[in-house]
Amino acid sequence: MAVSISRGMVRKDGRAVPVVPSPYKSSFDGNQPKILVMHFTYGSSAASSAEWFRSKQNPGSSAHVVIDRDGSIIQCVSFEECAWHAGASSWRDRHGNRLEGLNRHSFGIELSNWGYLQKSASGWRSYTGAPIADPVLAQHKNGNPDETPGLIGWEPYPAEQIDAAVEVARAIVDAYGVDEIVGHDDIAPTRKWDPGPAFDMQKFRAQVLGDDRSSNDSDTLSVIVDEGLNLRSGPSTEFPTVSLLARGTLLQPLERRGRWLLVSVMKNGVPFSTGWVHGAYVA
Ligand SMILES: [Zn+2]
Repeated sequence: MAVSISRGMVRKDGRAVPVVPSPYKSSFDGNQPKILVMHFTYGSSAASSAEWFRSKQNPGSSAHVVIDRDGSIIQCVSFEECAWHAGASSWRDRHGNRLEGLNRHSFGIELSNWGYLQKSASGWRSYTGAPIADPVLAQHKNGNPDETPGLIGWEPYPAEQIDAAVEVARAIVDAYGVDEIVGHDDIAPTRKWDPGPAFDMQKFRAQVLGDDRSSNDSDTLSVIVDEGLNLRSGPSTEFPTVSLLARGTLLQPLERRGRWLLVSVMKNGVPFSTGWVHGAYVA
């Protein structure tokens, strides 16, 4: 559990991550966001993007965190405040609500990445001219920028960066009960291309939310804590406790959501109760 969130701030290995505060933020007005929006920065580094988010020249954009290509994390806005990352946007959420202006309804993670690239005689380059050796060649699902036909180059996301994003996203899910992850290109499809085709959204969702129903998670688990483990009616500590499971109680996992597992509690080899447990206390 290397990454966690305490009072809106990211902690890694027990320490606060670097903070470059952005003034471009507001209140959630009592909303509790349940959506996470993924972005790319079009930038050279997390530090440069974070500086932009606090710059006076910036007309008013920010994000909660920026994650660099090496996986390092900079926080710009507390998760208890509304960051300005989504702009004009709309989305029908998984509960059927039509949302407009997603800033008030979501958290935003920016990934340092040049996005779509330009072809030169010596290969694919960022718009600033930085060469990108092994781009992902793909067509954006909503059509390429400038309506360029066919496959174009996109900067790949390094594994260290994706791993860090998964950890931060899981911490957001744990802290706030986020149940949906979208791209900026999902909520603003006519004007945004991030995080783009180099970002494997399906895999990311499965890693963070665990709602990849095809994954085979059927091995029996056992409670590993002496003080017992709360069985809850839902996948967070906000849900009431159904019962306290003694150490050694056998559980059959049915579904995973973030770090939470929906389980059948087994008694004499047959399921007799169902509920949610935190995955850190079973093995
Ligand atoms: Zn974006």
